[in-house]
Amino acid sequence: DEYESGGARPPGPLDGDRGFDLAGRLADRERRDLRRELSPADRVAERAQFAPASGGDLPVLDGEERLVFASNNYLGLTNDDRVVEAAADAAEVVGTGAGASRLLTGDTLVHRDLEDRLAESKQTDRALAFSSGYAANVGTIAALDPDVIFSDEYNHASIVDACRLSGAEVIVYDHCDAEDLAAKLGDAARDPGTTDGSWLIVTDSVFSMDGDVAPLSDVCDLAEQAGAWVMVDEAHATGLYEGGGGIVQREGLSDRVDVQLGTLSKALASQGGFVAGDDDLIEYLVNAARSFVFSTGLTPPAAAAASEALHLARTTDRRDRLWRSVEFLREGLTDLGYEVPGETQILPVLVGDRGDALALADALYDRGVVAPAIRPPTVPEGTSRIRVAPMATHAAHDLERCLDAFREAGREVGVL
Ligand code: PMP
Repeated sequence: DEYESGGARPPGPLDGDRGFDLAGRLADRERRDLRRELSPADRVAERAQFAPASGGDLPVLDGEERLVFASNNYLGLTNDDRVVEAAADAAEVVGTGAGASRLLTGDTLVHRDLEDRLAESKQTDRALAFSSGYAANVGTIAALDPDVIFSDEYNHASIVDACRLSGAEVIVYDHCDAEDLAAKLGDAARDPGTTDGSWLIVTDSVFSMDGDVAPLSDVCDLAEQAGAWVMVDEAHATGLYEGGGGIVQREGLSDRVDVQLGTLSKALASQGGFVAGDDDLIEYLVNAARSFVFSTGLTPPAAAAASEALHLARTTDRRDRLWRSVEFLREGLTDLGYEVPGETQILPVLVGDRGDALALADALYDRGVVAPAIRPPTVPEGTSRIRVAPMATHAAHDLERCLDAFREAGREVGVL
């Protein structure tokens, strides 16, 4: 017939367009103001993005030296000689890659050393390193396989994704609101659909956009009453408190938080994530956390860098220097007339209008200060802000320059 003789193929059920209209989806994001972009090429750093430990060169962006107040490298350790050397040594002795899952041949002394130090800082039996904080959240929550999860409304995206992946019923409570959590625990206890099974309460300790702190002690009280477990994500706190711990240690809650989780990529100056807890938890995760079991072990240089950074966080004056800078900037910005809420190293300089926040960030950039505008949908409408995060390595004159820029830029844009 026509088909066999090379003519037109008769139409069939397979005919159609089943591809992906990515350009259309991106245009849609653009229309809804949700479009994300990598930095333009002239804003890509040529050198370490961070104020050097002792004078020296500042990062060059756009052909000029600029001060970066936009990093999670809170202790300024990513280019510290001792951390760099630890990473280089590990690469030389152990190799640049783990080469396999930790459960096969990817386990090394470098990983064990890191985990011992993390467990000590977190005051737990053991710790387990993951390839990122994201992987730690997703692997851990899915492995716990809770029936019901109570989650703070501003929890990090990796927790949100982990909750979805776990298949649990997720009950979102108001941000940092222990009363709302109590009410929702009570409702769930009365609801035949959710009253039984295993319950997990999960929260960030320090929230990355507001720099505020979860009411952990109240959360632990409620969890104990309900017999639920508590999991705390200390990504933005690990390494910044006594002994290199986080808010859980500051509040004396190491014995009451079942799962302490964090990242190696912020104060610990490296890459990777971890979970700390008792022997049973860690032994279970080694078996059941799929992002641990089926993923190559953390690279040895990353593990060694984080371990050295944690050691330095514990034993040097880096933390004191950071907190002094935070207080200096908070006071200075407040004196200028800005509203700067929160109690941590993350300083949200509230502007309100998204256009004003963008204009202020640009005006700061023109004055050599890099600090991003954070706007909806990342934060609620009307609460756009500049997120300022100093580093322990910023010198006094760097902080002065930041305040000068905020004074001039704020007047130029009309927000002061
Ligand atoms: N949790 C929180 C609260 C975070 O801020 C982040 C990182 N932005 C993560 C988890 C993920 O950590 P990582 O970058 O190591 O994947």
